[in-house]
Amino acid sequence: MAKETFPGTVPAADPRAAKAADELQSRAPQAPQKLPDSTGLRLLAVHAHPDDEASKGAAMMAAYADAGAEIMVATATGGERGDLLNPAADTAQCHRDMTGLRRTEMKNAAETLGVSHAWLGFVDSGLPQGDPMPPLPFGSFGTLELEQAAAPLVRLIRAFKPHVVTGYDESGGYPHPDHIMSHRITVEAYHAAGDPQKYPECGQPWAPQKLYYDRAFNPGRLRALHEALVEAGIESPYEERLLRFEQGDRPDWLTTHEVTTKVPVGDFFEKRDAALRAHRTQVDPEGFFFATPNDFLREVWPYDDYVLVDSAVHTELPEDDLFAGLRD
Ligand SMILES: [Zn+2]
Repeated sequence: MAKETFPGTVPAADPRAAKAADELQSRAPQAPQKLPDSTGLRLLAVHAHPDDEASKGAAMMAAYADAGAEIMVATATGGERGDLLNPAADTAQCHRDMTGLRRTEMKNAAETLGVSHAWLGFVDSGLPQGDPMPPLPFGSFGTLELEQAAAPLVRLIRAFKPHVVTGYDESGGYPHPDHIMSHRITVEAYHAAGDPQKYPECGQPWAPQKLYYDRAFNPGRLRALHEALVEAGIESPYEERLLRFEQGDRPDWLTTHEVTTKVPVGDFFEKRDAALRAHRTQVDPEGFFFATPNDFLREVWPYDDYVLVDSAVHTELPEDDLFAGLRD
């Protein structure tokens, strides 16, 4: 995961950011926002590798689990090609059985978030590097035919019966072949699961009712963090990146979906952090994901962000609830 680079970073554990959080806290105390009771509602989040669920939407899942919803994470691959990314986690087992270790880490992360978890059973494609790019490993997730890759997810949707499915956008959120394939199977399974003509060997039809893409890193969030830093008299690390964004200078894989849905998750950032730390071999506790103090985030952007891409129920945009339109 540390290989993934995102738009917008805050310098690691910058004490000035903590000071800004304190200043903002004293200036504009904000009542905690809660989700409505979500008993009886179900959400399935589709991810590519063990640890992706902790870096994208973890606070959202913990918040809905706390509100009574049933949450399931589906992880497409075992993360077999992940390297040890946290020097402090170097043990003999890392070298002997990284895959087994990551299964244990995933179990711990799911328990931390209060969610169920299923493996879709595919093999990590790795991130090909070089010029020319080498082919993906034979049989890996990114090389499969769509129907073959989507079948286990269709089966899971029909068994778990989610009302809402979340996944990555067309770019994968990050152009890793497994993330792009995760996008493709999410869309395929979301539409096919309710159709009795499709995947007849994968159980009784169930049609989920809303599909969202993750927008964890979006220009609105960057701008809010940037302006809060500037207001607090602190040099913003976002300035150059924001300018480039706003002048249309962006990587060509980056999509431009607007956020439609901001879920209040401010009380659950510590659970997200704990889920990240559960992926001990993959997440450096001094790294990017812990760089922005939670009190600062709670003040400036206490949301996980999504774009609604399909809905079978009536809902009004913008939303602050992924289950909007599904409650009685
Ligand atoms: Zn990943």
